[in-house]
Amino acid sequence: MRRDMRRVERDKELTIAIDGWSSCGKSTLAKALAKELNFIYVDSGAMYRGAALHAMRKNLVSRNHVDINRIIASLADIKITFKQNSKGKAELYLNEENVEKEIRSIEVSNSVSSVARIKEVRLFLVKQQRIMGINGGVVMDGRDIGSIVFPLAELKLFMTADPDVRAQRRYEELKAKGDEITLEEVKENLKLRDEMDSTREESPLIQTDDAIVLDNTNLTPQEQLIKTLELVKKARKT
Ligand code: C5P
Repeated sequence: MRRDMRRVERDKELTIAIDGWSSCGKSTLAKALAKELNFIYVDSGAMYRGAALHAMRKNLVSRNHVDINRIIASLADIKITFKQNSKGKAELYLNEENVEKEIRSIEVSNSVSSVARIKEVRLFLVKQQRIMGINGGVVMDGRDIGSIVFPLAELKLFMTADPDVRAQRRYEELKAKGDEITLEEVKENLKLRDEMDSTREESPLIQTDDAIVLDNTNLTPQEQLIKTLELVKKARKT
């Protein structure tokens, strides 16, 4: 039944859903794929980070406190969009303010999973994500893309990598951006988010039955791109 529905939509380009643990290279792969295939790339995590930043600025969330009702009420004041910068890179805007840099901070990373577990926040963002992918030709990465946002996606990947390798990669990335952070803080944040994202009630991170697992612990970005392009070829034939 599902497969038939996918075929009916076959005139459209593929939808590629990439889910997986925090910092295991989902966005690196998704961006490279979108470039190679000339698809739209959507970083759904950036949208949750934008919603979390808004809640943080209004003091509605911190490490020990989440004001769920006021976060839900404040959704009416949020407009989350992506705009391309001069280099063609999509950046996140919160109510017309470019917050791309701010949403990547450790403070937002430490609060985002508490906001992302709220059902109404998810409904609000999933609705927009579905519109972004309505015409196919999209690569979206996140935690619930293959399970909730695009359950009929023709290609679903579930990415994983050794936790120490993931933490080291993220640590180096943040250091290169000039963030004052320790490897321990990064490790702790990844562990906390993975735990919260995979155990929450609403749309937890899961590996769907039809997802292909990609462990990139020992793969370079180029190697994982080549492997995935093979999967794209196969998905186009089925
Ligand atoms: O992808 P990224 O690590 O930037 O995502 C930040 C957080 O946003 C995740 O840890 C998770 O709590 C939330 N998220 C989500 N569902 C998505 C994408 C991200 O719950 N589809």
